[in-house]
Amino acid sequence: MSYEELGLKVGLEIHRQLDTRHKLFCKCGTSPPAQENPRLKIVRYLRETQSELGEVDQAARFESKRMRRIVYEYDPASACLVELDEEPPHPINAEAVRIALTVALMIRARPVDEIHVMRKIVIDGSNTSGFQRTCTIALGGEVVVDGQPIPIQTITLEEDAARIVRAEAEEVFYDLSRLGIPLIEVSTGPVLYTPAMAARAAEAIGRILRATRGVKRGLGTVRQDLNISIRGSGLMEVKGVQELELIPRVIEYETRRLKHLRDLVERLRERCVRPEAVEAQPIVDLTDAFRESGSRVIRRKISEGGVVLGVRLPGFAGLLRGEGDVRLGRELSEYAKAWGGVEGIFHSDELPGYGIGEDEVGETRRLLGAGDSDAFVLVAGREARAREALEAVRMRAAQACTHIPDETRAALPDGTTVYMRPRPGSARMYPETDIPPFRVSPELLAEIERNLPPPLEKVAEELVKRFRLSNQLAWELIDTEMVEEFERVVGLGVAPSVVASLLTEGLKQLKREGHKIENISPNHIYDYFRLVSLGVTAKESALQVLAEIARDPSLTAEQAVDRLGLRAPPIEEVNSFIEELVSSVPPGERKSATGRLMGELMRRYRGRVDGGLLNKLLMERLRAQ
Ligand SMILES: [Zn+2]
Repeated sequence: MSYEELGLKVGLEIHRQLDTRHKLFCKCGTSPPAQENPRLKIVRYLRETQSELGEVDQAARFESKRMRRIVYEYDPASACLVELDEEPPHPINAEAVRIALTVALMIRARPVDEIHVMRKIVIDGSNTSGFQRTCTIALGGEVVVDGQPIPIQTITLEEDAARIVRAEAEEVFYDLSRLGIPLIEVSTGPVLYTPAMAARAAEAIGRILRATRGVKRGLGTVRQDLNISIRGSGLMEVKGVQELELIPRVIEYETRRLKHLRDLVERLRERCVRPEAVEAQPIVDLTDAFRESGSRVIRRKISEGGVVLGVRLPGFAGLLRGEGDVRLGRELSEYAKAWGGVEGIFHSDELPGYGIGEDEVGETRRLLGAGDSDAFVLVAGREARAREALEAVRMRAAQACTHIPDETRAALPDGTTVYMRPRPGSARMYPETDIPPFRVSPELLAEIERNLPPPLEKVAEELVKRFRLSNQLAWELIDTEMVEEFERVVGLGVAPSVVASLLTEGLKQLKREGHKIENISPNHIYDYFRLVSLGVTAKESALQVLAEIARDPSLTAEQAVDRLGLRAPPIEEVNSFIEELVSSVPPGERKSATGRLMGELMRRYRGRVDGGLLNKLLMERLRAQ
């Protein structure tokens, strides 16, 4: 697959939470509250409204159509009346503006003279007000990747949205503690042409953000959105790529998917399938034909008072099954789920199957008037939902004849993506009149410029020089975002290379083995090494102890050491065992037996007593006679 031939274009939007004391528009803190307070609950409904120009945004209409009850749960320690949209927002957080301006100056972007907050309509419930506040901080600038400048389009500051807890057909639950945390967004134009290049650019932007030391870290603090298109396709905005490694995989998948859909437009044209013919297809009630269905799912839906509806897709036979993980059938199913809230669809390219027999397929074809060259789609469920679902299927199938529509999609952990909603149009922004503009004075800029943090290249050089780490280890350490912890632990007198390799390779190994390393806090690691430096346990126990903490983060490092039986025995006990070992060897043979004796010692004390210490004690004993 040649990306150049396909005309792949990728733009990045890197979002990262800022580590400020307060939220962007109120005085609530930005860290999760220490103790679990009683949780309060409010319920809202959000509706579409017209913009100032009288337009209704199609993404807003999509959410409005679903009309779900939105339940907000919150801890009063992490959300106030501002998050509830009961009190006007406070002026913008100057600390957050400062960090964003620092990023702007680091990439030589042009800061705006005055920051104006805008409202962006979002009515999926992730904002209690029905909009998200956002403001442009700077324009232009560039990051350098492999010696090549990648232009930056904008740097914006926005409020993070509420975190979705769970979504049901009629209700969706959000937690408010994340709402309002400052989020910086750095976006490139559609100037990246291969998956590898996009990944490198994301890495470079991430490093600049981290160099400010003003961003939060850890799971959930970074979200990368990808704007992807190929020649002739619509624009796909893929949201929520959390891990850097996923970026190239998502782009590869999307390219394959878009190419398949583009080829389908060709094939439907060759078959002379007209979109109008698809749109004109009626949605037919087939419930009676499925009362005795071989499909248990369908029988259950009918017995719950549901219906079976079907629609013919003229000329689509064989085109729904696709190739591997990209198929039109999956696209149609995603539209049905998103628009109708149904569990899924059945389509003729996969039937007979799922309990639906030959005779049912034949009867469906007869009732829909579908010939051999036609396909059909069935949905079982409550009538209103099933109808919405099939209308969406019919709309998407009609589009398939002429183009690939713009979409907002979500990235999945396996590197594929799923349809979320149509892409919002330009009618969704309007000024936030509750917040005064923030003037960016030349004095403020000059002051930030004087105090710019060193770029990470400098930090790496420093690590190599001060701690004699290899260049590679230094960068790996920087990428773990634990340089400060590293320096703290080394201050205890633990060898820098031991700490650095635990923080990099060690934690990676634990993650590969399936341990929840996000449960291991910097304090756990510090306390563990403090125990090592005091001789309470040996550094060889590190992976075992941290794995135990990952399983049960309520443990202190010392409790984990004890639970695993890795506490060092009293030195007298070690010495007396050495004595026993040494005396069992005739004096003349002791020198040549050193290796074997050391082996025995390690077998007995590995992970409890430091190997170097054991060696020293043994040597002392051997020299003593
Ligand atoms: Zn608040």
